[in-house]
Amino acid sequence: MDKLLNASVFAPNLPKWPYFYSIKTVNNYIEANLSVIQANAIKKSAENERFRTFLNHQPDSDLDAIVQQLNTKISAKVDCTLCGNCCKTLMIVVTNPEADQLSGALQISRTSFDEQYIEKGLNEMMLINKMPCCFLKETKCTVYENRFEGCREFPALHLPGFKKRLFTHFMHYDRCMIIYNTIEYLKNILYFEIESSQPC
Ligand code: SF4
Ligand code: SF4
Repeated sequence: MDKLLNASVFAPNLPKWPYFYSIKTVNNYIEANLSVIQANAIKKSAENERFRTFLNHQPDSDLDAIVQQLNTKISAKVDCTLCGNCCKTLMIVVTNPEADQLSGALQISRTSFDEQYIEKGLNEMMLINKMPCCFLKETKCTVYENRFEGCREFPALHLPGFKKRLFTHFMHYDRCMIIYNTIEYLKNILYFEIESSQPC
């Protein structure tokens, strides 16, 4: 499996991949332009719908192994501090222990922290009250050491159970270049037939 993956990820001239890359690195390319990614997400919406169904028929453990290896290789080529798009566009859930920890690190009272940064959602769930997140400065997190669990996990491609989270991964496909590139490489590695899903 690793051999196949390495061959697929690092061979720059793979067949069936005519339109994918804009950033060239030493051995391979990834798409890192969010405007291109968003335009492609619209163009590929029918194809991606079909790919989701295709993925649902793949064995869980094989899929997890490929996705986790792809995620490792692609994440290493992405500098999240130059992007921050998840921090700009997602609702951030905060737990009580996380709020305690961050308010302590910011040296403000918990009451003051809640007043400045928290709003309550359904079932009293605590959420960061602004989007982009109040702790984002340009494209960087100003509280990185004390960021929340959801921030640490996103885009969650390193976790087992990729198939169970297909809906959310495809929901974030146009927002996160790690997800976008992982899914596009996956199409190639699994020999998904892209052409037949394109409109005439
Ligand atoms: S706490 Fe930091 S990592 Fe989390 S959303 Fe806000 S800026 Fe992003
Ligand atoms: S996880 Fe995705 S959306 Fe968030 S900063 Fe990294 S590349 Fe951008």
